[in-house]
Amino acid sequence: MPPAVTEPAHKDTSRYFAETGPLLEMKDVTKSFGGLKVITGINFSVAKGELLCLIGPNGAGKSTIFKMIIGEYPPTSGKIIFNNREITKLPMHRRAEAGISIKMQIPCIFAEMTAYDNMRVALQYRVPRDQLKDEIERLLDKVGFTGDTSREVKNLSHGEIQWLEIAMALGSRPSLLLLDEPTAGMGPNETEKTAELVLALNAEGVTTVVVEHDMAFIRQIAKRVIVLHYGTVFAEGTMEEIEANEDVVRIYLGEL
Ligand code: ADP
Ligand code: MG
Repeated sequence: MPPAVTEPAHKDTSRYFAETGPLLEMKDVTKSFGGLKVITGINFSVAKGELLCLIGPNGAGKSTIFKMIIGEYPPTSGKIIFNNREITKLPMHRRAEAGISIKMQIPCIFAEMTAYDNMRVALQYRVPRDQLKDEIERLLDKVGFTGDTSREVKNLSHGEIQWLEIAMALGSRPSLLLLDEPTAGMGPNETEKTAELVLALNAEGVTTVVVEHDMAFIRQIAKRVIVLHYGTVFAEGTMEEIEANEDVVRIYLGEL
């Protein structure tokens, strides 16, 4: 298990940009599906090394933003900049090569295959054959997957599936890791371990954006938080500021 990081939440969010500059920039990004405007206009940046939490009601557009960052959905308008380079039209595999990786909200693994074979499929083109076993073991150990890797995914717990998918996402050694609802289906102990994992990965330098509804989890990891509502940035600040914001409580936190 990676060491727990118990650093307190930062009060001053501007420090990220003053020190490191942005890794990812979303500039006036919109997304429509047919006539439905889902992302009405997004502007935000993620600093190099930052751990950013993205929260908001169901349907606010969180997963759609992630899918635009990885290149699954083309934005309708606006620009996406990664490492000072525009990637708005770059294909998905080129973005992955550039260092962007995701754990999707909906599991993207083969249920009939074993945990180990899913890792093998995810890593086989990036890791030389003679290093594959060691690298799979290193990654599974890193995320705290301690179970039997010869079990088929359909027999794993929700928590084990999340950790397996995070391990697969780490296979490309990303500089930007997007985690869409990483604690879905987890009990309190698993959620706690996942919070420690996210903090440890970030402490190693992986810039991370996390979407999650579990506020206990968000409270444990949050440094800067952005609240999305109807496809736009509704509020931004530390968790203390967000929880004290009456408008955020009205549109989202009051419902949880
Ligand atoms: P969140 O992740 O914040 O819950 P999503 O990004 O999944 O929200 O969805 C935002 C809105 O976009 C929802 O109204 C959803 O129905 C719609 N949407 C997402 N993907 C598609 C799609 N491929 N086609 C049509 N509508 C979509
Ligand atoms: Mg979603």
